[in-house]
Amino acid sequence: MDVIFLGPPGAGKGTQARILEQRYGIRQLSTGDMLRRHRAEGTELGKKAQAYMDRGDLVPDDVIIGMVERELHKPGGVLFDGFPRTANQARALDELLARQQRPAVAVLFEIPLEMLYERLTGRWSNPKTGRVYHEKFNPPKIAGIDDEDGSALVQREDDKAETVRKRLAVYEEQTAPLIEHYADRLKRIDATKPVETVTRELLSAVNLKDAVA
Ligand code: ADP
Ligand code: AMP
Repeated sequence: MDVIFLGPPGAGKGTQARILEQRYGIRQLSTGDMLRRHRAEGTELGKKAQAYMDRGDLVPDDVIIGMVERELHKPGGVLFDGFPRTANQARALDELLARQQRPAVAVLFEIPLEMLYERLTGRWSNPKTGRVYHEKFNPPKIAGIDDEDGSALVQREDDKAETVRKRLAVYEEQTAPLIEHYADRLKRIDATKPVETVTRELLSAVNLKDAVA
């Protein structure tokens, strides 16, 4: 079984995906992390994605769908984090999963948009591993340093207030309509709660034993 995380930027999808990956071994597939890796490595795909990401727009569907398709040949369930984000991506994913006879459930991280500014503008992450912190809600032991590997944490360019506004508008316009697409297999969780509470809610909403099988 695969799990699709839906919800706006800053809702906590990456944070939870990482926890579930570490605890249960279900593989996190974050299209945002993949794109940032491509950029860091200077690949053609990374160069193509750069301008869209910097202005808070979505990267074109064909680039994203091709990138995800290449990952789906590996065995085991996947936790989709930040994908799909458009109706075309959702249709493409339906087809890819149906071809491999893989059932999927979707989880919607519900949170009012007003709470997302503080979450995003206070986010710090490890550019190598993608691990995220928050300066107020989930601070590292030493400010600016990753607890795990000692790397210097950075703030994402697209977490600046102006780009955040754009990304939230893009979410409302292009991604929120997918809630309807997944209506028949959607679980809703309250993403305003503390990290551990959200993890508990997630685990009771989704049977991860099926996902890692
Ligand atoms: P997304 O992957 O949905 O964009 P992240 O997991 O990166 O969101 O979380 C956005 C920011 O909010 C990060 O700084 C993270 O540390 C913080 N965060 C995540 N979950 C919670 C939570 N339940 N309560 C408070 N802050 C959170
Ligand atoms: P994220 O890390 O999920 O917040 O994504 C960061 C940026 O990467 C987004 O603002 C988009 O520009 C791009 N991106 C990530 N995932 C997708 C996707 N599924 N479709 C289009 N663009 C994406």
